[in-house]
Amino acid sequence: MASLSANEGERLFFTERKALLLELQQMLQLASENGRSCGLLVVSVRQYNAMYVSYGYDQARCVLREFMDRVEAVLPGRDNMYFIGAGEFAITLTDIRVVHQISLAINKVIKANEANYIVGSSDISVRLNIGASYSANVGDDSEVMLQQAYSALLDAQDSNLPYALFREKEQGVEIPGLELQTYLEAALQKNELKTVYQPKTCFKTGRLVGVETLLRWNSPELGFVSPELFIDASEKSGLIKEVTQHTIRSAAKHYSQWGEYAPNIAVNLSAGLITQPNLIALILRTMRFWSVPLEALTLEITETDVMKSPEASLRTLEELNRHGIRLSIDDFGTGYSSLSYLKNLPVHELKIDKSFIQQITSDVSDRKIVKAIVDLAHTFDLKVVAEGVEDEETYRMLREMGCETCQGYLVARPMSPDDFYSWRTKGEWFGRAEEPYNPNGSLSME
Ligand code: C2E
Ligand code: CA
Ligand code: CA
Repeated sequence: MASLSANEGERLFFTERKALLLELQQMLQLASENGRSCGLLVVSVRQYNAMYVSYGYDQARCVLREFMDRVEAVLPGRDNMYFIGAGEFAITLTDIRVVHQISLAINKVIKANEANYIVGSSDISVRLNIGASYSANVGDDSEVMLQQAYSALLDAQDSNLPYALFREKEQGVEIPGLELQTYLEAALQKNELKTVYQPKTCFKTGRLVGVETLLRWNSPELGFVSPELFIDASEKSGLIKEVTQHTIRSAAKHYSQWGEYAPNIAVNLSAGLITQPNLIALILRTMRFWSVPLEALTLEITETDVMKSPEASLRTLEELNRHGIRLSIDDFGTGYSSLSYLKNLPVHELKIDKSFIQQITSDVSDRKIVKAIVDLAHTFDLKVVAEGVEDEETYRMLREMGCETCQGYLVARPMSPDDFYSWRTKGEWFGRAEEPYNPNGSLSME
C-alpha cells in the first residue's frame, strides 16, 4: 500500500487543524452565548515513531484507525475528533458544565485505549499522554485554547503522567483528580442512583421470566454518566459494596411494590464482592425486610470474576444456592472457564455476552460459538440467556438453537419501575409463541 509522503501528511494535518480551529471558534462563541463552557483534549500516542519503525506504516495506521474508532464509540456524537499530527489527535468537548466533565472524557479515552491492538500477528499496546484546556481560561481565542492544551500535553509528557489540565489561574498546569468517586459518594447519599429493569422473556412463548436490575446515574452536575464508567470507578474505589447494597435494596423494594406482578429479579454482583464475608447476611436481611422470597432473586456474576478466585467463589455460590437463590454466569464467552470447572458450579443459567449475540446473523464463527455454548450449557442442565437481541432474525436463530431466555431491545429496553409495571400489567409480550398465548390466562411467571 502506498504511504503518505511527508508533504501529503503535512497537508492533511494542516487541513484538519484548520477545521479544528474553525469548530473551536464556533464552540467558544456558542458557549459564551448560552453561559456554558467547552473543552479540548490533545491526545498524543507515546512513542508513535518507535511504533512506526517497529511495525511499519500500515500496521501503525491500523492502530490509529482503531484507536479513533474506539474513542468515537464512547464519546457523545457531538464531540469531534481531528487528526492533527503524527500520532496526535484533538478532541472537542462541547457542553461542559463543570470542569470534572473533562476528567470524565479523559477517563473514557484512557479506557477505550486499554485493550491491546491486534493487527495481523502483532499485539500492540499503546500508551497515551493527554493535555486538556477549558474555555473559561481562553476568552474567545481558539488558537489560545489549542496552545493551552498543547502546553498541558507537554507537561504531562515531561512529568510522565497520563494527562494534565491547563489552568490559567495557577499560571500552570494542574492534574485533575478523577473525582468521580467524590461525586459518587454524594450521589449515594442523595439517592441519585436509580434502578431500571429490563425484561427477560421465554423464547418459545414470549412470556416474562424475570427482569435484570440495571443502574442509572443522571447527575445534576455531570449529566448522564454511563454505568460502565461509574461501576468501574466504584470497583476501583471500594464504593462498589455500598452501590450494590443500594441496588439490592432498591430492587427488593420495587419487587414488593409490584405485588402480584413482580417477576424474578436479577442483580449484578461485581468483581470482588463474591468473596466478601458479609455479603450473604446482607442479602438475606434485605430480602427478609422487603418480604422477597429468596427463590425470586437471581445473582449475575461474571465468568471472569468467578475465575479470579475459583475456590472462594465456589464456597459462596454453594451457600447462596443452599438458600435457594438462583445464580447466573454473566458475560459468558468472554472469559476462559474450563468445562470441568463449570460442571462443579451450582449455577442455573449462562448469559451469553451481547458481543457474540449481535453478530450471529452476519458472522458464521460467532453463530458457531453461540450454538456450542447453548449445547454445552444443556449438557450441564443449564438454561441459556441471550442478551442484546435487537432484531427478529437474531431472535429466530437463537430460538432455533434452543436458547431459553431472551433479553434485548427487541423485546424491551430497561424501564423505570413504574414503566415496567404498566408494561407488565398491560400483559405486553413478544408474540412469537409456538403455543398460542391466552390473554385471559394468568400473568404468573413460567
Ligand atoms: P451487563 O450486566 O452485561 O448488562 C447488559 C447491558 O446490555 C445493559 O447495559 C443493557 O442495557 C444492555 N442491553 C440490553 N439489551 C440490549 C440490546 O438489545 N442492545 C444493546 N446494544 N444493549 C443491550 P447497561 O445498563 O449500560 O449496563 C452496562 C454494564 O454496567 C452492565 O453490563 C453491568 O456490567 C454494569 N452494571 C449496570 N448496572 C449494574 C449494577 O447495578 N451493578 C453492577 N455491579 N454492575 C452494573
Ligand atoms: Ca448482567
Ligand atoms: Ca454483558
